[in-house]
Amino acid sequence: MNKNSSNVMALVPNTSKKRETVCIFGTGDFGRALGHKLIQSGYPVVFGSRSAQISSLVPKDAEVLSHTEAAQKAAIIIIAIQRQHYNFLTPLAEVLRGKVLVDVSNNLKINQYPESNAEYLAQLVPGAKVVKAFNTVSAWALQSGTLDASRQVFVCGDDMEAKQMVMDIVRALGLTPLDQGSLLAAQEIENYPLQLFPMWKFPIFLSLGLTAFFFFYCLIRDVIYSYVYEKKDFSFFIAISIPNRICPVLALMLLALVYLPGVLAAILQLYRGTKYRRFPDWLDKWMLCRKQLGLVALAFASLHVLYTLVIPIRSFVRWRTSSSILSQAMKNETQPLNTTYAWLSDSYLALGILGFFLFVLLGITSLPSVSNNVNWREFRFVQSKLGYLTLILCTAHTLVYGGNWFLSPSSYRWYLPNAYMLSLIIPCIVLVVKFVLVFPCLDKPLTRIRQGWERNPRYSE
Ligand code: NAP
Repeated sequence: MNKNSSNVMALVPNTSKKRETVCIFGTGDFGRALGHKLIQSGYPVVFGSRSAQISSLVPKDAEVLSHTEAAQKAAIIIIAIQRQHYNFLTPLAEVLRGKVLVDVSNNLKINQYPESNAEYLAQLVPGAKVVKAFNTVSAWALQSGTLDASRQVFVCGDDMEAKQMVMDIVRALGLTPLDQGSLLAAQEIENYPLQLFPMWKFPIFLSLGLTAFFFFYCLIRDVIYSYVYEKKDFSFFIAISIPNRICPVLALMLLALVYLPGVLAAILQLYRGTKYRRFPDWLDKWMLCRKQLGLVALAFASLHVLYTLVIPIRSFVRWRTSSSILSQAMKNETQPLNTTYAWLSDSYLALGILGFFLFVLLGITSLPSVSNNVNWREFRFVQSKLGYLTLILCTAHTLVYGGNWFLSPSSYRWYLPNAYMLSLIIPCIVLVVKFVLVFPCLDKPLTRIRQGWERNPRYSE
């Protein structure tokens, strides 16, 4: 590689206080925002532009020159230009030889081009050292200083020293560089800002589907049935009663769905007698979005708490209470306290309160700021042991609420059971299978398999 004087200078670590000049190609939104931030951090900045006329938007402490002149003034050149205009760099190849070119570009679609923009840049200017960085930071965040949410800057490149120089700049700007390896990682880094809640898709679509299903289910059972058979208009149930049936049902089902894949994985490993065979794709994907499933479940549980809090002030509930008091007064009798019912009602509420408390605790420990501060064993203890305890409490809460109505024919309208009965199916399956898996005859081989033991080793010594 031809090492001219400016290239040698570029790779010498900066030990003095004075920062090295940084060149930015392009005076667009991103170039200007980054230039502004670099100047604030003490870097002399020179812009390379098609027009040497200084726009009022360009930071006034920066120089604006032609691309060739600007490139000669710095060892690092940030290319703040869209990929489709990169071909103007080909005639500059000689000036750019040995320089560090920072590719900050993004695309409009995931995998829009066969190769990443950074690799394309490296092909166009083969003598330069290309580093991918800054593409996940927005011009707006740089300019407004609201970088709290996105302090991490993914950096990748084939030349270690060039990458180190860019990471030093990232640190000087008050951001955190994350080394992602060679330029092969650039495609993934470029796809990152284009992803739309990848881990949330399944939990959100599943909960939307289940919400729609249970809404119509409850509408048929609680509103249409009463209208057809009793000529009563309970359409106002749509506002609070039906949502307050759907929310606990979904909270419990989704919480059980957080633990179901773990149980299925254990059965699969026991059956195969090894952990070295991949799970089916659907199970892998399901396992990866368990945290999101749990958080959606927590959202439904919180809504259930809010809906429950307003029950005493509902007009329908106040009417029902006063009707019952009036009917007792007219008959001149007082209903005796049913202690069995009082016990059931208090236990149901106590289980619900404890279950919700642990549910919130689980949600808090899944926050990165908290989970980063506990070790692996502590995290597993909270998410597994406390998680199962939450599932047990919430399932018991539902069972105590209506377990004694299971055999009552009035619970079945048009042969449809109450929605909470359906919500118990998955949690009960998960808890029963988990209980069976705890038996030593299954737990011991499973633990050995997870430590690497194989029933039929494929590679014998
Ligand atoms: P922009 O506002 O459109 O500016 C691009 C600049 O490129 C123009 O101001 C122009 O500068 C130069 N340019 C345009 N056509 C050219 C051509 N044919 N030949 C040479 N230079 C040309 O775009 P931007 O928002 O600043 O984005 C620049 C790059 O940063 C893009 O690759 C983008 O993906 C990336 N990025 C942007 C953001 C953001 O928030 N905007 C965030 C992360 C990454 P001159 O007139 O000075 O020549």
